[in-house]
Order: sequence, then C-alpha cells, then structure tokens
Amino acid sequence: MRIFDPHIHMTSRTTDDYRAMYDAGVRALVEPAFWLGQPRTSPASFSDYFDGLLGWEPYRAAQYGIRHHCTIGLNPKEANDPRCTPVLDLLPRFLAKDGVVAVGEIGFDTVTPAEEHAFAAQLALAVEHRLPALVHTPHRDKAGGTARSLAVVAESGIDPGFVVLDHLNELTVGHVVETGCWMGFSIYPDTKMTPSRMVEILQRYGTERMLVNSAADWGHSDPLLTRATGEAMLAAGFDEADVDRVLWQNPTAFYAQSGRLDVDATGSTESGGVPANPTSPAAFLYAGNSVARGGS
Ligand SMILES: [Zn+2]
Repeated sequence: MRIFDPHIHMTSRTTDDYRAMYDAGVRALVEPAFWLGQPRTSPASFSDYFDGLLGWEPYRAAQYGIRHHCTIGLNPKEANDPRCTPVLDLLPRFLAKDGVVAVGEIGFDTVTPAEEHAFAAQLALAVEHRLPALVHTPHRDKAGGTARSLAVVAESGIDPGFVVLDHLNELTVGHVVETGCWMGFSIYPDTKMTPSRMVEILQRYGTERMLVNSAADWGHSDPLLTRATGEAMLAAGFDEADVDRVLWQNPTAFYAQSGRLDVDATGSTESGGVPANPTSPAAFLYAGNSVARGGS
C-alpha cells in the first residue's frame, strides 16, 4: 500500500514517526503551514518557519525515504493578530519556490472579518500563482463555517478543482460534493473522523476528489491513521485499486496541479528512496502527548 499523506505537520513529529510512516507505506507528504501553538508575534517568525518547511524538513524526510512538499500561507487563527498579518506581503516570495505545492492552510477559525480578509487575499494569490489552495474548515460550527468558506471560494473566481476543503465530516461533505472542490478528511485517534466513519463516507459518496490525511501535529494525533483507513477500506470490501486511488492517486492529482510535485508518473519514489539507517532510539511514543487538540 503506497500512501501520500496530503496534510501532516512533520515539524512537530519525531524521526521515529518518519520511520514508522515509511514502514506503513508513506512515500510522499504535504506539510501545510499552520500555527505552532505558541502565538507568533512578528512576520520574521513566519519567514523562518517557512524556510524550515522548504529546507530542513524536506532534508529530514528524505533521510527516511519520504518526499516532502509544503503549502505556504497565513493560517486563519493568526490572521486575527495584527502583529502577524504583514506576513501576507511576504507570501509572494515564498509562493514562487519549487517545494510549495499550494497556498494554505487558509480559511476560517472563528469566522471573523480579519479571517475573511486574509482568506480572500490568499485565494487571490493562489489564482495569481496558479497554485491549488488548502482550506481549513473550522472545528466549531463546522456546517456554517464550511458554507461561508464555499461562498468565499466562489467569490474568488478560483477554479473549484484547485481547492480542497479540509477537515470535513458527515455533516459537511454533502455541502462540498456538488461544488467541484476536493474533499479532505482528517482521521484522528479519538475525536472527529475515524477510519470506520471514513469508510462509510466513501461508500456513500464514492472515491472521486476524496483525500484522506492524518493531520498529525503537536496535539494528540497519529501519522499512521492513513494506513489504518486503507486497511479499513479493504476490510469493508473496497479493492486495492480503490485504496490506491484515495491514498495515492487523488493527492498526487490534486497537488500535481501546482506543476511542482516531486513524484514520477507511476507514483514511485523509490529512486533514491531507500531510508537511511535511522540513528535515533527506537522508542515509539504517542501516548505521552497530553496537549489538547486544537491544531491542524
Ligand atoms: Zn493542519
């Protein structure tokens, strides 16, 4: 089973995670720019973070045989902080770089005018730079926030096929399926979407334009839940081609629209993709993370 995780925050993860992901079949991923828990107080902090997503993290991933790409953007939560919003002026410089395959995460957190301004401005940047857009839907008032997000997307004039609405669930997928936008689902260990609920959504809505991610970050999360979802699909009667479509071909097709995806046409990343001998200890720890969810 080959896996492309289209949304995972590796900056917050360990080398043990990279090794376990490789062993589970993960060969490529996209790390969206997001907030780091601790509020940033200056655009310079974003600039250094973006450089890390383009430099250090791809280097780290490559040591474990995984292709790393990123999205760049001002996240909705920090779009409310006037100390952060000047980063919008820095974005064009980063969006020109090869490792950037979309604008994101953008969208709504608590659905404020400041968030809407940053969201619309960054959709315009996506159009200008011919890049896809990764839209985070709010964790509270999901139905209302998703409807507002779709309205802003429609007003922007961006091709809906260049947009993924992420963190969807049973309550919101029906709003998106007819719009032509892609549909992203984040599978979590104990809240929101689970592998079995994801399988039910795929049974009802099909596999077209469907993306499954772990959204793993600094909160309680699990980078192997993409694999678990693939296993749940097989157990429910989907065949291997269906699993490959959802876990590999769909994310490849979505981000390839950037013209910058670093995977070959067959989807293989094996050339040079043999993981280096990891030097870190083998302890594989998820359970110790007691930070409350709220990221992704
Ligand atoms: Zn995220």
